[in-house]
Amino acid sequence: MDAVPTLTAPRQLVAAGLIAESDLPALEAVAARYAIAIPPAIRELLDDSAARVPIGLQFIPSANELKTTPAERADPIGDAAHSPVRGIVHRYPDRVLLLPTHACAVYCRFCFRREVVGPEGGTLSSTDLSAALDYIAGDTGIYEVILTGGDPLVLSPRRLGEIVAALDAMNHVQVIRLHTRLPVVAPERITADLIAALKRTTKALFVGVHSNHASELTEAARAACARLVDAGIPLISQSVLLRGVNDSVEALEALMRALLAARIKPYYLHQLDLAPGTSHFRVPLDEGQALVAALRGRLSGLAHPTYMLDIPGGAGKIALTPSSVATDATGRTVVTDPTGTAHIYAPE
Ligand code: SF4
Repeated sequence: MDAVPTLTAPRQLVAAGLIAESDLPALEAVAARYAIAIPPAIRELLDDSAARVPIGLQFIPSANELKTTPAERADPIGDAAHSPVRGIVHRYPDRVLLLPTHACAVYCRFCFRREVVGPEGGTLSSTDLSAALDYIAGDTGIYEVILTGGDPLVLSPRRLGEIVAALDAMNHVQVIRLHTRLPVVAPERITADLIAALKRTTKALFVGVHSNHASELTEAARAACARLVDAGIPLISQSVLLRGVNDSVEALEALMRALLAARIKPYYLHQLDLAPGTSHFRVPLDEGQALVAALRGRLSGLAHPTYMLDIPGGAGKIALTPSSVATDATGRTVVTDPTGTAHIYAPE
């Protein structure tokens, strides 16, 4: 049982000393629109002076969330346009998203599905889940199924295990992936029962761990990741580039090193999607590219994430990694090394 309750209301945040009483009216307005949850592990991190800013920005609501810019939209990556049945997003021919729940253990203030996530969003009914699984079973072109949400690991181990077993029974599904925040925000919930649920398949199964700052990789979080890896479950990371949280080369370097040391392969660094009320977190693309370029000389290839943009509206993901190859005015190939120095590349 949790030592302290998860904080879900602005009044509780005032009582915990996380926000000022004078901010209450604005934050009640935020809470009326977007879910709040600060679980014990995150509450504890907020007492750590080094973590207070990057963790607080990610999870403590702010009046900035009441400001929506013209470009921001409720469905920033166009899920609805690619949803043939409830709980499925089918954007690419060979893979689908399966969203069994809209609940999370924590609600990130920049979430790209913030208009739908929350405890009220609930879990797919048995009928809807059956229909979603039938949809996957009926399309033999689907090679990979990605469970996301919400956070699929907040499902009960019984329900999660049933979904994994159902996917395992589909011959054409070769890869199962789950996206989660749980190992870092509620590491105590990575239990033997939950791991047993994930092991109800002989297919390739990957867990993508969402983490944005090195301070999230606490001893407890690393131990939770180790339980998964030691059970034979490979971990990859997903991070979001966020103003004030990880928008420096030092913060990104520390994050990627911490992930790798926790046996999580850095995978994607996402450009922040155009979700409503998130403009205070947004880093321009050219600044993001410069940060990623600066990581080149600092980290081994194993520690590099791919910088990704989900094109607003649902056109799909593209890599934003800056190219280090160009052509000069005379047609020669020029390559730029990690220090920024240009070299002519002439293999012939
Ligand atoms: S854990 Fe993921 S789905 Fe849940 S609020 Fe955070 S970003 Fe959104």
